[in-house]
Amino acid sequence: MARFRQIVLEKELEERLAWLVFLRWFAAAGVAVVIIASQFILRLDVPILPLLGGNALLLVYNLVCWLCIRRIEKGRGQPTWFKKATRLGNLQIFVDLFLLAYLIHFAGGVENPFILFFIFHMVIASILLSNLAAYLQATWALILLWGLFGMESTGLLPHLHLEGFLPDNLCLYHTRFLPGLLAVFTGTLYLVVYMTTSIVNRMREGEHQLAIANKKLAEQDRLKSEYVLKVSHDLQSSLSTIQSLLDNIIQGYMGPVSNQVMDRVIRAERRSNSLIRFVKELLDLSRMRTVDKLEKEPVRLKDRVTRALDQFKVLADEKRQTLSQSVDENAVVMANPVTLDELLANLVGNGVRYTPEGGQITIRQEKDEDGFIKLSVSDTGIGIPKESLPHIFEDFFRADNAKNHAKEGTGLGLSIVRQIVKGHGGKITVSSETGKGTTFTFTLPRAHVD
Ligand code: ADP
Repeated sequence: MARFRQIVLEKELEERLAWLVFLRWFAAAGVAVVIIASQFILRLDVPILPLLGGNALLLVYNLVCWLCIRRIEKGRGQPTWFKKATRLGNLQIFVDLFLLAYLIHFAGGVENPFILFFIFHMVIASILLSNLAAYLQATWALILLWGLFGMESTGLLPHLHLEGFLPDNLCLYHTRFLPGLLAVFTGTLYLVVYMTTSIVNRMREGEHQLAIANKKLAEQDRLKSEYVLKVSHDLQSSLSTIQSLLDNIIQGYMGPVSNQVMDRVIRAERRSNSLIRFVKELLDLSRMRTVDKLEKEPVRLKDRVTRALDQFKVLADEKRQTLSQSVDENAVVMANPVTLDELLANLVGNGVRYTPEGGQITIRQEKDEDGFIKLSVSDTGIGIPKESLPHIFEDFFRADNAKNHAKEGTGLGLSIVRQIVKGHGGKITVSSETGKGTTFTFTLPRAHVD
């Protein structure tokens, strides 16, 4: 569990470091606007060159931070990663505070109301860093502020009075106001760090508990699938034996039986047949859910599509349905051929089953999508009621119109389909209109063949 917690913390730290860089781009833009506005709109006499220079420095430094983050991103998971990333976070806040103090110095010193921005930095430090580091950063901020005040009031650094902002005769450096303000500020910064770290710690603990609960649930789900896998496997072999025994009677190998007995045996055989189909689907689904990774190879899509359509040709002919396809000869996907066949058979099978006589079932290759080949399977069948659409990929779900149209059905086919598409990293969607037809659209990764 400690390793798991570490992974969650690493991910969080990585996201927050990137967030800090993102914020800094806005901060640099904001500083530029404030400098220009104070010069040209408020007509304040601020030393524009050092201020713009400082802002340019902020931009360059942010670019360096961005590059550093991109570099360390690659090493996530390595034992020293967390240490390195934390060091980078600390360094960034450290430099940020220094640059803020620099800008404040050239914009009137601690008289400038922008010293409040130190509080924002404390909030960011408390979110990003450890509690101790956040308190140390608050101390660094106070060293900078008191240092600036000390040096400007003793003449070690020039005090650039914000003329036009504060009355010329009111330099706060000559009053007790500034030391008082900084004393209050000292307490405020530590309080902000204390409050933010408390909230962040509580939230982090909550997130951690949630992540553990999710992991446990996923594990339980996997165990459940394993259990179903085992049970359905045992059921399947017993059912197959029952079926072959009944078959022996039907074929007459056990000698003549009365019509009444034969009728019962045939009914029993039919029932065991649909049970076998149900158990097979349960087995397929559980197998897909317990498998970590599908073994994939380049597969020519057209061959598989042709095969799926051939499989249903007799059934479709009986219902005078047309099966057609338009798939590119050269389309090759990176797929597991067995599960791909299963996916296509399920969708074409549903098309044939839920389309009345004389209808059409078509497989079409759509426009590619970011390295994925897109395929649609559409029919002109009974369609899916609007209220059932959000549920059709759920285990055992069957819409009412489908139950009326075809009594037999497990409601597992589409769960298997979705699991297969997911196992290939693709997506599946459905659109349908009752009485008009249904289209399933899914993506599979394109294989790169030379
Ligand atoms: P089954 O077909 O065995 O009932 P599926 O999981 O394959 O189970 O499908 C779930 C439900 O989705 C079906 O019962 C039906 O309501 C709906 N469905 C799936 N495919 C179609 C289709 N081509 N046309 C209309 N309804 C469909």
